[in-house]
Amino acid sequence: MGYIYDKAYFDDGIKSIDEAKLSVASSAVLYGLSVYTVFPVHIAKDGSKLAFRLHDHYQRLVNSAHIIGIDTFKPEWSEKRFLQVATDVIKTNQITDNVFVRATVHVDELIPGPRSRGLKTILSIFVYKSGPILPNDGARLKTSVWRRVPDDAIPPRAKVNGAYVNSVLAKQDAIDSGYDDCIILDSDGHVCELSAANIFIVRGGKLITPGVTSDLLEGISRNTIIQIADQMGLEVVERSIGLTELYIADEVFACGTSAYISSVIEVDARKIGDGKVGKITADIRDRYTDVLYGKNKAFAEFLTVIN
Ligand code: PMP
Repeated sequence: MGYIYDKAYFDDGIKSIDEAKLSVASSAVLYGLSVYTVFPVHIAKDGSKLAFRLHDHYQRLVNSAHIIGIDTFKPEWSEKRFLQVATDVIKTNQITDNVFVRATVHVDELIPGPRSRGLKTILSIFVYKSGPILPNDGARLKTSVWRRVPDDAIPPRAKVNGAYVNSVLAKQDAIDSGYDDCIILDSDGHVCELSAANIFIVRGGKLITPGVTSDLLEGISRNTIIQIADQMGLEVVERSIGLTELYIADEVFACGTSAYISSVIEVDARKIGDGKVGKITADIRDRYTDVLYGKNKAFAEFLTVIN
């Protein structure tokens, strides 16, 4: 469990998190009809607060709403307005540690039935502290009995709250079986992602990750890693991955805002590589950390300084 800072944006202004409450009759509560994103803010060595890829997080929120048919968010929330409010919430809480910021667009119409267009939405933004959701130096994963919801059922490309029941089923199944997290397969039986992180494998010195048509969330960390690999001169192949390819991969790692970069050392009771954090995984993690803390100037445009 993490620590939640007291000041949150909710509906029309910044208020105490205790006052940020939705009606039990809202579509957000009745149907899980909310879309969200989570971005990190890191404290650099010189004390500056660095928010990561705010533009991309805003755009993913807009895209998620668009896919689901929530059409009242974008007209009311320009990127400029969204960034101003997000920045204000971070400043008001006077953070001194690395934090996560969760921004959610809730459909707050009361009992409208199962539909999405022309309904009232409200934005919430809150700040919290939490450790990574996966052990970073040796995660053990189990292939889930639960398949990823396909794009033509509940599109995983949209980060919609209700769809996370799929992740909950898969993660709980893994925990119940004594593992840290799960490998979720798509409906064709190919490797998709974890409960809340994307996956990469290393084979023959190349990075391989499922493509964006594999029913996964287009993770912002995934995209960052592809760009870091490009800078390293490492080839990245986006293609379907068979489950047993994981077993024989040289290295496997997971990535996500809340998972950070987690070295996977075991899948379905099979040791991956030599069962230790792989060299390429460790190298990518170091470079990714540099990007987040503003130490890699080539990625400076990913960071927004919050004064
Ligand atoms: N897949 C799923 C299902 C997720 O919930 C997350 C976490 N947002 C990710 C992948 C990783 O996405 P990101 O790197 O944008 O955090």
